[in-house]
Amino acid sequence: MEMTPSSEICSVKVALHIRPLVADERLQGCKDCVSVVPRLPQVQIGTHSFTFDHVYGNGGAESSAMFEQCVAPLVDGLFQGYNATVLAYGQTGSGKTYTMGTGFKDGCQTGLIPQVMDTLFNKIETLKHQTEFQLHVSFIEILKEEVKDLLDSASESKSVVANGHPAKVAVPGKPAIQIREASNGVITLAGSTEVAVSTLQEMAACLEKGSLSRATGSTNMNNQSSRSHAIFTITLEQMRKLHSVSPVNDTPDEDMGEEYFCAKLHLVDLAGSERAKRTGTGGLRLKEGIHINKGLLALGNVISALGDEKKQKEGMHVPYRDSKLTRLLQDSLGGNSKTVMIACISPADINAEETLNTLKYANRARNIQNKPVANR
Ligand code: ADP
Ligand code: MG
Repeated sequence: MEMTPSSEICSVKVALHIRPLVADERLQGCKDCVSVVPRLPQVQIGTHSFTFDHVYGNGGAESSAMFEQCVAPLVDGLFQGYNATVLAYGQTGSGKTYTMGTGFKDGCQTGLIPQVMDTLFNKIETLKHQTEFQLHVSFIEILKEEVKDLLDSASESKSVVANGHPAKVAVPGKPAIQIREASNGVITLAGSTEVAVSTLQEMAACLEKGSLSRATGSTNMNNQSSRSHAIFTITLEQMRKLHSVSPVNDTPDEDMGEEYFCAKLHLVDLAGSERAKRTGTGGLRLKEGIHINKGLLALGNVISALGDEKKQKEGMHVPYRDSKLTRLLQDSLGGNSKTVMIACISPADINAEETLNTLKYANRARNIQNKPVANR
């Protein structure tokens, strides 16, 4: 099959995921302050209304619709050589980890990543006769502008259990992971663990291992809140045998060499978007909060710059270098890649201010336009 760069303009999709009120919020007597406009992907909060590509509420059927509509096309694109990024954005407790599936609760998984893995391996199974596949995964987190490996066995921390939750103890002396850019623009992570996987179970084991070693910190807002960006990356390499097809009986006859594709899918559980001052603990936590905002701020600026077609034509600089997060995602945001942002919100009135901030941030991301070109 001839792979020609698509001329299709692909905008970043922005979906909204509204979780139900959680038990804690119901106990506090919270009211639902977000209403979904019937038959439209639109929500209202107070006097504001926002339209997205999709709006999802709670419930199992909605979770599979979200996968089918937002993420399955990115998995398909991976097989055609397009890089892709899925970002879960929102305040701590809004459902990012639940949505992505980077958390493990009682050993049970929910979310998009398990559905990605299922789809990926099913597709490989149907294509494996004509194509050779190689899969690698990495799982890192960015905390305080430092990249940490969540899959490195050597630095496996002694897990201590505090308040019933595993917490990580840093191992000193590990060289930091460096983000590097090759001359062809491909971003690599020097020093990070890339695990070769050949089965769904092996990939799921990497997800579980990294999820469990992810750093968590306590804040006023949520004692399991994560202050880091967690990035689970699946790299798919394909070697496809090319044959010319006999016009007589449609059977392949002459060997025409091989075609190679490599593409990666980043699945990103972003740090909580709440302002540092809301965490209110000062000292170390406050410092982390400020750094995290740096990544989210840079991400917002990058996405907004990519969406401004006029400025792009004028050769406007896209500020990827402003944070580790945007630097790492540079070859998978804009350019030849497909991007989906899932903005997660709580419907509770006590969170209205942060919910409004999330809706504004996500709304700003909706203009991005990319021209996908397959990696060769
Ligand atoms: P975040 O990662 O944004 O801090 P979590 O994913 O940890 O938030 O979600 C916070 C709480 O809300 C968790 O107890 C989670 O199980 C629950 N939750 C989140 N989204 C949903 C949902 N769609 N349906 C039911 N419960 C949810
Ligand atoms: Mg989380």
